[in-house]
Amino acid sequence: MNKPPSVPEHFDAVVVGAGFAGLYMLYRLRELGLSVRAFDSAGDVGGTWYWNRYPGARCDIPTTDYAYTFDPDLEKEWTWSEKYATQPEILDYLRLVADRHSLRSDIEFSAAVTSARWDEQEERWAITTSSGQEIRCRYYIMATGCLSMPKSSEIEGAGRFGGQVYFTSRWPHEGADFTGQRVAVIGTGSSGIQSIPLIARQASQLTVFQRTANFSIPAHNGPPSADRLKRLDEDRDEYRHAARWSRGGIPTDLTDVFGMTASEAVRRERFEAAWAQGELFGILNVFADQGFNPASNDIVATMIREKIRSTVKDPGTAEALSPKDHYFGTKRPCLDSGYFETFNLPHVRLVDLRTQPIVSITEEGIETADESFGFDAIVYATGFDAMTGALVAADITGRDGWSLKEKWAAGPSTYLGLMTTGFPNLFMLTAPGSPSVLSNMAVSIEQHVDWVAGCLKDMREAGFETIEPTALAESGWDQHVQDCAAITLYPTASSWYMGANVPGKPRVFLPYIGGVDAYRKACDDVVEQDYLGFRMTGPGRARCHDGVVRRMQPDVALVLELLATLGLPPMDTLSAADARALMAATAATRPPGPEVGEVMDGVIPVPAGDLPYRLYRPAGLPEGPHPLVVYFHGGGWVLGNLDSDDPLCRDLCARSGAVVVSVNYRHAPEDRYPAAALDAFAAVQWVDANAIELGGIPGQLAVAGWSAGANIAAVACQLARDAGGPHISGQLLICPVVDSDLTRPSYQDNGDGYILTTALMRWFWDHYADPADRGDPLAAPLRGNLEGLPPTCIVTADFDPLRDEGVAYARALEAAGVPARLTRARGHIHTSLTMVDVVISGAPVRAEIGEALRTFFPNAVPQEPVS
Ligand code: NAP
Repeated sequence: MNKPPSVPEHFDAVVVGAGFAGLYMLYRLRELGLSVRAFDSAGDVGGTWYWNRYPGARCDIPTTDYAYTFDPDLEKEWTWSEKYATQPEILDYLRLVADRHSLRSDIEFSAAVTSARWDEQEERWAITTSSGQEIRCRYYIMATGCLSMPKSSEIEGAGRFGGQVYFTSRWPHEGADFTGQRVAVIGTGSSGIQSIPLIARQASQLTVFQRTANFSIPAHNGPPSADRLKRLDEDRDEYRHAARWSRGGIPTDLTDVFGMTASEAVRRERFEAAWAQGELFGILNVFADQGFNPASNDIVATMIREKIRSTVKDPGTAEALSPKDHYFGTKRPCLDSGYFETFNLPHVRLVDLRTQPIVSITEEGIETADESFGFDAIVYATGFDAMTGALVAADITGRDGWSLKEKWAAGPSTYLGLMTTGFPNLFMLTAPGSPSVLSNMAVSIEQHVDWVAGCLKDMREAGFETIEPTALAESGWDQHVQDCAAITLYPTASSWYMGANVPGKPRVFLPYIGGVDAYRKACDDVVEQDYLGFRMTGPGRARCHDGVVRRMQPDVALVLELLATLGLPPMDTLSAADARALMAATAATRPPGPEVGEVMDGVIPVPAGDLPYRLYRPAGLPEGPHPLVVYFHGGGWVLGNLDSDDPLCRDLCARSGAVVVSVNYRHAPEDRYPAAALDAFAAVQWVDANAIELGGIPGQLAVAGWSAGANIAAVACQLARDAGGPHISGQLLICPVVDSDLTRPSYQDNGDGYILTTALMRWFWDHYADPADRGDPLAAPLRGNLEGLPPTCIVTADFDPLRDEGVAYARALEAAGVPARLTRARGHIHTSLTMVDVVISGAPVRAEIGEALRTFFPNAVPQEPVS
C-alpha cells in the first residue's frame, strides 16, 4: 500500500537552535504575531551551554554583561553569583528565560532540521526534520551558534582507543569521574585550559597534549565586578547603551596609549592593571596599537610570558607553555583559574606536540614520535569547525538548486553576516561577517535578532514577502570585512578565526573585526537607506536600492572621525601662514616612517636662488650607486616643505631601493605660477647633472610627486622632453593635480568631507595662478602635448576630488602612446598614502608604487624591498 503523502505544516518562520540567539528570536517573532516553530537537536534549551558541560566550563565575558537586556524585569530578578558564571548557572538562566516567556511550547527538542530547500514557485522554504515532518515556512532562521559543530578528530586511530573517550563539546550529562585514573587531555584552547585544573584534581595522572601554547590570563573569578555593578545600578540604561555602542559589546574605555611611545613605567602599570582586572577586553586594550603593531603587541606578549615563567616551576615546561608562534590576541586568549599552576603538580605532565607529535591513538592510549602512553580516559578539547561548520552542514539549498555548502566552498560570503545571495529569506544570526565571536555574544545576538525582527516588520508594512541581498552589496561587505582584518595582525595567526584549525577549510578571516559599534552603525545605515543592497519583492511589487554600505578603508574612516572631533578650522578659511602652521603642528605628531640608510640635507642652486633638498639613501647592501628619484611634495603649491612628506619619502626610498631627492620649491602666494613648475624642472636638471655626487646612477632618473607636487613633476617631464633632456626613466604621479577643471564627477562625489575639498582646491588655485593661466600646460599638464613622455605610474584614490583628472591623464597618456599604469587606491582619500603607519591600509598601495618605481630602472641592481 502506498504511504499517503504527508501534508506539510505551514509556519511563518522556522528557527533552528534554542540557545541565546534562538530563544530571543522566537520571542521576537511571536511578538510580531508570526507563527513559529523552533527545532533543537538538544534535549532542552541552552545551545552551547546545553552541550559544553565539561568541568570548569564558564563564560569568559563578565556576567554583568553576558545576559539579555530585552526583559527589564528579568534583569531585576536575576542576579549572577560570580564574575564569570559556571555552565550550570548560565543554563539555569536560559531555562528561566524559556519558562518566563513560555517559549518551550514552540520548540521541538531532540529534533533536527535535516534539509531546507527554497521553493521558487511558492516562495517558501520546504523543510524536513529528523522526525519526518514536512514544513513550509516563509522565513528560515539559523540560530545555530558559532562554536556548535565539533571538529571531527583527524588524529590517526581516533576510534581505536579502548578506554573512556570524552569531548568537551559533548560532555555526558551524568558527568565523568576521573578519580584514580590516568587521563589525557588533547587541546589547550579555552575548553582545555578551563577543564585541565579540575580534571587534575581527580586524576591520578594527567598528561596534557599541547599543539600550540596559548595565551591565558587569570580570570580572578569571584563576585561580579563591583565597579560594573555600581555602574549598572547608577544608570542601567546608560550602561547598556554604552555596551551596544562599544567596540566589543562591553563598556570599555579604549586607551589612547601607544605601546611604542609609552614609557617603561606606563607600559608596566597598564599591563599589571589589566592582569589584575582579569577581563579579556582589558588585556586586549593595554595599548591602542597592540592589535596592529607587532612591536607593541610583543610588549604585552613578553609580559605574559614572564608571568608564565614566574608561575611554572619547571623551566622546560614553562618554556613550552609560553606562546611564541602568534601575536597576542590573534588566537582567542583564554581566562583561566589556576591553569599554569596545575603544571607544578607532580602528577601533571605537558607533552609538547611540536617536539613529539602524536603518531596515533592506540587501544591503550597515545603513541607519539618518542613515547607510548597508556591511559584510562582521553579528553578531546580539540575545538570546533567554527562559524561556518553548523551552517554548511545543514543541507540548505537556495535558488537554482545551489547549496550553501557549494556557495561557500571557497569561504563564506555574506551581507552583514546576516544573509547571503541566492538564499532568499534565509537569515543567519551571528554568521561570518558579523562581530559575533570577537564580541560579547549576548549584545551581538540581541542586535542581530532585533535587526531581523525590525526587517520583517518593515517588510510586512511595505507589502514585501521576500528579501535577498544583491551580489554587489554582498561582495562589497565581504571586501569590507577583509579590509578590516587586513589592517590588524589577526590574519597572521593559524586560528579558528581563519578556519585554520580544520584541515582543508579555506583560510578566510571569518568574523567582522571592525567593532560592535561600527557594525551596528552599518546595519542601521542599511535600513535608513531603504535597505541598501537588499532586493525585496511582494505581490505586484519589488524594490531594490543597490549599493555598497562601506566602501572606505576602515582606518581612513577612523582618521576622518578623529579629525571631525578635533574641530579644526577648514584650511581654506585660513591665511597661508596659519594654514602652514596648522600643517606643521599636525606633522609633528605622526609616526616617522621607516628607517633608511642615510638622510642628508643640502641645497640646489637654481637661477631663482637656492632650493633646499633632502636626500634619502636606501639602507643595506649594495651601498650604491642607486637610481635617483626627484620628489616634489604636496600642499597645493602653498603648503608643505621637506618635513611634510618626510615619512612618504622614507617609504618610497625603502620600497624602491632608489635615492630619493625631495626638493623644496618656491611656494605661492609669495611666488606664484609658474615659479614652482620652473623650480621643479631646474631641480631635475641639477640632480641629473650631479647624479654621481649624489650616489645615483647617471641616466637612471625618475620624477615623482604627490598632489600639487605631482603637478609640477608632470610639468617638469614635459619641459624635459621639450628641452631634449635630461632623460627621465619614468614619472610617478600620486593623486596628481593635472587640470584646473573643478567640475568633474569626482569633485561632485568627493568635494566635501575627505580632507581635500573643492573649496580648498579653489583656495590653492587662487593662491597659485591667475584664472587666465590655469589652462596653460605649465599649470594643467593634461592640456599639454603628451607624446614622448616617459613611462608613467599614476595613483588615484576613490574618495579624492582629483580622482577623475588622474584617470583622464592616464588615458590621455595611453592615447599618446605613453606606457601608463593606473593604480587605484581603493577606499582611500587624497592624503591616505602620505599617512605612513597611520593609514595602514595604504601600505599595499605603496608597495605597488615601490614596485612601479623599480620597473622604471630595469638595469638597477635589485634590492630587497621593505614589506
Ligand atoms: P580551540 O580554541 O580551537 O582549541 C582547540 C585545541 O585543540 C587547540 O589547542 C588546538 O591546537 C588543539 N587541537 C585541535 N586539533 C588537534 C589535533 N589534531 N591534535 C592536537 N591538538 C589539536 O577550541 P576550544 O578550546 O573548544 O575553544 C573554542 C572557542 O570556544 C574558544 O576560543 C572560545 O571562543 C569558545 N570557548 C569559550 C569558553 C569560555 O571561556 N567561555 C570556553 C570554551 C570555549 P591548535 O591551536 O594548534 O589548533
